Amino acid sequence: MRILITGGAGYIGSHLSDALIDAGHQVTVLDNLSTGRLTNISHLLGHTRFRLICDSILNARLVDQLVAEADVVYHLAATVGVKHVVEDPLKCIVANVRGTEVVLESAYRYWRRVVVASSSEVYGKSEKAPLSEDDDSVLGPTAVGRWSYALSKAVDEHLAFAYHRQGLPASVVRYFNSYGPRLDPRGYGSVVARFINQALDGQPITVYDDGRQTRCFTYIDDTVNGTLLVGTLAEAEGKTFNIGNDRETSILELAHMVRDMVDTELEIRHVPYAQAYGPRFEETRRRVPDTRRARDLLGFEANVPLEDGLQRTIDWFRKQRVGE
Ligand code: UDP
Repeated sequence: MRILITGGAGYIGSHLSDALIDAGHQVTVLDNLSTGRLTNISHLLGHTRFRLICDSILNARLVDQLVAEADVVYHLAATVGVKHVVEDPLKCIVANVRGTEVVLESAYRYWRRVVVASSSEVYGKSEKAPLSEDDDSVLGPTAVGRWSYALSKAVDEHLAFAYHRQGLPASVVRYFNSYGPRLDPRGYGSVVARFINQALDGQPITVYDDGRQTRCFTYIDDTVNGTLLVGTLAEAEGKTFNIGNDRETSILELAHMVRDMVDTELEIRHVPYAQAYGPRFEETRRRVPDTRRARDLLGFEANVPLEDGLQRTIDWFRKQRVGE
């Protein structure tokens, strides 16, 4: 099949590209390399079934042409990571809302199967656990920049379903804290990358607040597997799926794990939220996916244990440093 991946040079998109190339498909990546990186896909560049187009999803004419040529579209291009979003909410809103509008308009025009990448951030600060797809979102005030990301992704989801009501075969995936090789090496946007980089630099590991807030860390192979199931199976059309591991880990526990794997002498330092993100920051204290829908309808299960995934990710970060 001919597959279009927007944001295909990003962390998740590049792994999805690898999996689809391995499965024998033709892959076109559209990426403006703003947060995506050429090094994530450089090994694919000479491949006969792979093509990279460096441009923006806001280029509607180009998107239209690429969607027309594709059988399936995975729309992953977005501004991601709480830190990016807090720093530049305008960029986030334009990329996430207008960009998705452009992609879905074309998918509708040519009636293409489309998977829209969303985020567990959509649940906001809801502390219900586990969170199932039809649970309420609990978002903070618009004066707090962080929530623009959740809202923009919620709009994307509404758009996808509005088109689905018109007959478009669209689905949504909500990712839960994916981690693995190719996370932004500056540690931007992911606590796993930050902790690993801090540890490899011999620096203190910075745990925000008391570290009792939790996340469910999902290894990239599981994230990709879930995404492909959603893009492949007819049962997924018109639905949202939590794609995540349901093991709940506190940030303090994660800090200890990284420290134990890199250097047991390292300091774990608690930092107030205000110092990390500035004033008026609001945190999601708990975020656990209910994975029943993905399991029952798609046979999805995240099965890479955090210990294994972390070790593989640390190994990758180490190798990057040797290569520098
Ligand atoms: N966090 C932390 N130290 C850091 C970076 C993040 O303690 O250096 C915490 C953050 O407060 C949050 C969790 O780690 O509770 C996950 O943060 P991340 O930015 O990876 O993703 P989120 O799930 O918040 O979108």
